Amino acid sequence: MKRNNKIQKLSIIGGGPAGLASAYFAHKNGLKFELFEGNSEIGGNCKTVEHKNFKFDLGAHRFHDKNKYVTSIVRNLLNDDLKLVSTPSKIFYKGKMITFPIEFKNLLKKLDSKIILKILIENGINIFNQNKINSFNDLVIKRYGSTLSTLFINNYSKKLWGIDTTLLSPKISGGRLKNLNIISIINIFSNRKHFEGFFYYPKNGFGMIFDKIKEEIQNNNIFLNSNVTKIFHNDNKINAIEINDNKKIEVDQIINSLPINIIANILEPKIPSKILDIVNTLKFRNLRIVVIFLKMKNFSNYASIYFPDENVN
Ligand SMILES: Cc1cc2nc3c(=O)[nH]c(=O)nc-3n(C[C@H](O)[C@H](O)[C@H](O)COP(=O)(O)OP(=O)(O)OC[C@H]3O[C@@H](n4cnc5c(N)ncnc54)[C@H](O)[C@@H]3O)c2cc1C
Repeated sequence: MKRNNKIQKLSIIGGGPAGLASAYFAHKNGLKFELFEGNSEIGGNCKTVEHKNFKFDLGAHRFHDKNKYVTSIVRNLLNDDLKLVSTPSKIFYKGKMITFPIEFKNLLKKLDSKIILKILIENGINIFNQNKINSFNDLVIKRYGSTLSTLFINNYSKKLWGIDTTLLSPKISGGRLKNLNIISIINIFSNRKHFEGFFYYPKNGFGMIFDKIKEEIQNNNIFLNSNVTKIFHNDNKINAIEINDNKKIEVDQIINSLPINIIANILEPKIPSKILDIVNTLKFRNLRIVVIFLKMKNFSNYASIYFPDENVN
């Protein structure tokens, strides 16, 4: 964010990673800011919750080294508390654990030879596959062939996103689906570690990243239990927000990190009902987290275990 002398104060809505990152850069650039978080804690979906000395994240979270600049910021914030972890994930298939992201060497050990042959033929043909990728389904078929996609990827993705993979965007893979192509087959006997098996993870849970940001940007600019209930606008400019249905605060510039459906519904005056109706058709997935506390140091060496079987819900 560049310093802009015209900005007197930034009002940031939401104290999840997006809101906190905005606050962090405002702080670094010497901009006045205030952050409003509806909950009693910051971190949003990336919180680490503590219960009777057990810590757990809101779903398995890991920090991927995708952007050197972002990684360097997080590394500077956490120093030695940011650990590089080398732990693969697994797919549970007919009682066997298949390494994910898929590795050909591992498949050879775990799958029937007829299936292996099919996979080889499909992936051989795939080298010449010039088909345009329009959906997530197209992407996985191009990357893995239809047998592997059907066995391990499409069912799971359909369960996760709630719609058929032909209707999902290829972007949802987040670049994490590595090619199982001739290169990986040639590398079959090498012990090259897979990039995806590596990720960063803070010593005390993923939420530690956001707790550190909060520490860094000074707590007195962060207003917890401050639900933004209205956003007042006039002449294409937002000029005030309402907190917890009663307190009106004048704003100069705002950064919103909330989903469009929430924002669209709290704009005052109301936006045209035609637009609101469209926004309200957006569907979101709910997340139910079941946490089981076990009295043992380490339950498994896997980062995650995926269950593609459509009967396991
Ligand atoms: C199961 C699961 C696993 C994931 N794994 C990873 C992973 O491994 N790596 C990764 O990088 N990402 C992962 N993600 C994605 C990551 O959690 C999100 O990208 C991230 O939380 C988005 O941050 P955000 O700030 O946009 O939104 P949120 O985290 O949703 O934060 C929004 C904040 O706004 C607050 N808020 C809502 N309404 C209001 C209001 N009216 N007024 C004021 N405040 C309000 C909320 O309380 C919340 O604190 C995962 C997500 C899930 C669900």
